[in-house]
Amino acid sequence: MELYNLRDRSQKLTFSEAVLRGGASHGGLFFPVKLPKLEQVDALLSLDFLPRSVHICQSLVGDEFSIGEIEEMVTSSLTFPAPVVQIEEHIRCLELFHGPTLAFKDFGARFMAQVLSTILSKRTRQQRVTILTATSGDTGAAVAHAFYRVPNIDVAVLYPSKRISVLQEKLFCTLGGNIRTFEVDGNFDDCQRLVKACFDDPSLVSTLGLTSANSINVSRLFAQTFYYFEGVAQSERSDLVVCVPSGNFGNLTAGLMARAMGLPVKAFVAATNDNDIVPSFLRTGKYETRDSVATLSNAMDVGAPNNWQRVVALYQGDEARLRSDLRAGSLSDDATRQAMRDVLAKGYLCDPHSAVAYRVLSDQLKSGEEGLFLSTAHPAKFKDVVQEITGKVMDLPEPLAAVEHKAILSEKLDNSLESLKRLLLSPKY
Ligand SMILES: *Cc1c(COP(=O)(O)O)cnc(C)c1O
Repeated sequence: MELYNLRDRSQKLTFSEAVLRGGASHGGLFFPVKLPKLEQVDALLSLDFLPRSVHICQSLVGDEFSIGEIEEMVTSSLTFPAPVVQIEEHIRCLELFHGPTLAFKDFGARFMAQVLSTILSKRTRQQRVTILTATSGDTGAAVAHAFYRVPNIDVAVLYPSKRISVLQEKLFCTLGGNIRTFEVDGNFDDCQRLVKACFDDPSLVSTLGLTSANSINVSRLFAQTFYYFEGVAQSERSDLVVCVPSGNFGNLTAGLMARAMGLPVKAFVAATNDNDIVPSFLRTGKYETRDSVATLSNAMDVGAPNNWQRVVALYQGDEARLRSDLRAGSLSDDATRQAMRDVLAKGYLCDPHSAVAYRVLSDQLKSGEEGLFLSTAHPAKFKDVVQEITGKVMDLPEPLAAVEHKAILSEKLDNSLESLKRLLLSPKY
């Protein structure tokens, strides 16, 4: 597969190179020059999740990996199901939270780990890479679990001290081994700034083989196309309106990519919280980024969505076509609370992110249409808020119960680049 830098069309590279690099120069992202068009989609949809995903993966990157490698990468990353649940007469939910860290990010992170280790295993010269990432919660956990004990890969995760819940922290700071976690005396923006500064240091990048694992890494998006096919296959409909709770817009980009490859979907809906850059763009025609505001659905608190340039690239600037394929809506925190209570009244418990998608979908669904929203996190991941808003008391699911009493292994980090560099260059053990 050939990809190019969205900021510099002349810069082309393979999928493997793009995965190793993470982001492109000049703040650009890598994107396929051309997406494959899948044939016999009906037959494809009748396959099970794994063989279907193997087939899709092969049509994407079959020129760079053997079929054996692709089977191995797909089956080792998709080790949990993505069930569709009927919520009400015209609305279904695709549950993407059955992975080890209870959020949809497990799909992309686990696949990326497989791809990266396969690429490294084929190098003649032994090469180690370090995944450096900042997290406000979910990404760090998914990445740490996905790369735990993967050969030739070290992981360093920075997170803001006292700004994530203890359970969230225990989910990824109790692993040890090749996973180092740094509790930063600062906020999430400070963590991101430190990570960026490391990537701006060419000698550090080459010494450690630094690469990034957030949704700018294109491998994550590829894996996310697989579950859109699964959602349509299980719903047994080719006219669904699919609603995606969005922050950095990686998830929605993957859905639009799946459609461009031939997945039958009537339309997509982008659902946001008060950080409504994209819904206001579709309303006014003006794309204006701004500082993010804090909301209940904090994984979607993004004021400058990274992946939007990929959506624009996919539509080659054809705004009219984009508008006919994509609807959008945003939801305030109060309306999100109400949506959580309303879904519960139908017998279903949603975390705040999924509740945003549920309500925006029901607002956008026209009469006679069938909707599917993506549930991106297990409600227990936000146990305290969910309990406070809905009154529903939950047991901890297995992945959280398993770490509840484990010791946190994080190293403390003052908010300085010098200290971070020193720690990264001195092996922990
Ligand atoms: C990351 C995240 C999102 C936002 O996904 P994007 O791909 O950044 O749009 C939504 N919900 C949850 C629970 C998340 O962790």
